[in-house]
Amino acid sequence: MPAQDIITKVEIWPVDVPITDPFVVATGRLVTAQNLFVRITLKSGARGYGEIAPFPEVGGDDRPTCLQVATQLAVTLLGQPPAQYRKSARLFHDMAAAHPAARCGLETALLDALCRHNGVPLWGFWGGFDVRERETDITIPIADLERTVALARAWYSRGFRLFKTKVGMDVEQDIRRLEAVHRALPDVAFIADANQGFTREDCLAFVQGVKRVGGRLVLLEQPVAREDLDGLAAVRHLTGVPVAADESARSLHDVMEVLQKQAADFINIKIMKSGLLAALDMAAYARAAGLRLMIGGMVETRIAMGCSFGLVLGRGGFDLLDLDTPLLLATDPVKGGYRYEGPKLQPWQGHGLDLEAQAPDAVTTIE
Ligand SMILES: [Mg+2]
Repeated sequence: MPAQDIITKVEIWPVDVPITDPFVVATGRLVTAQNLFVRITLKSGARGYGEIAPFPEVGGDDRPTCLQVATQLAVTLLGQPPAQYRKSARLFHDMAAAHPAARCGLETALLDALCRHNGVPLWGFWGGFDVRERETDITIPIADLERTVALARAWYSRGFRLFKTKVGMDVEQDIRRLEAVHRALPDVAFIADANQGFTREDCLAFVQGVKRVGGRLVLLEQPVAREDLDGLAAVRHLTGVPVAADESARSLHDVMEVLQKQAADFINIKIMKSGLLAALDMAAYARAAGLRLMIGGMVETRIAMGCSFGLVLGRGGFDLLDLDTPLLLATDPVKGGYRYEGPKLQPWQGHGLDLEAQAPDAVTTIE
């Protein structure tokens, strides 16, 4: 084991990545991913990467706030050993509980640097539970009928068979969109993600409508408002379709409440929503309590999504992967790391996240 190392530098910079098709969901619209990359350097020279992906409409956060918060948190890391990452994460939580994306970016970079220093892949650090290729769903944003079918056909031809369709703005139109995709591509299955946009009555009408036209609906994601756990429980029981809690499950405390109310079958784990270390705790608790796990993200590049894929490979127990957002981006600002082959994510073999990103001339440097 190499000697104890310390953190000597943290760099943070903005990254703008255009999205190929506007990412329209029931709570907002995004045309460019406006994220931040984080790079932590250790005294030994080992470097680790992290990503901060705010999605203001969902997380109540924006990039300038994230940069400000991450800079404040980064100051506390200087001189600290990365091996005490849980201590750092707890301090981050005490200082910035309401800013999970900023915490997540620093936590990811911290663990990546530690793993590179120690010469293990991030998934190996987490236990290497089941290291093999995995299949992701693909997201179809809210769009008109013609565009919805065109997108679905294009993804189908690349091998995708599980379509996460964004819904929740107009029930009748949502049913028509799923019907049109089902008629064009009868062997696909659907996850419907309403991002809190439905009422209970909408949910019943939606599920009945999709059944009537013959569509195979495997999951309803966050159909109703995040605080309406009774509504989530009712939708589960009334429709018979499994329900995933996404916006309703942002912390360990939230997961406990979802469990107590029997409000969901699945918890959607997202490292940006809770912070990385909190996501590990939420996943472990949910599994032990008999809930199933899916894993997704905000609109992220392969840095944050590689970290989430590392959780899948290292920890196991994730039944549904929604790790597709790098495929929705027009460019890929990251070299190395895991790869996509159609809907399959291929594990990497190098240390940490095994990827690199080019920093621009102007970066925020804490040293
Ligand atoms: Mg969701």
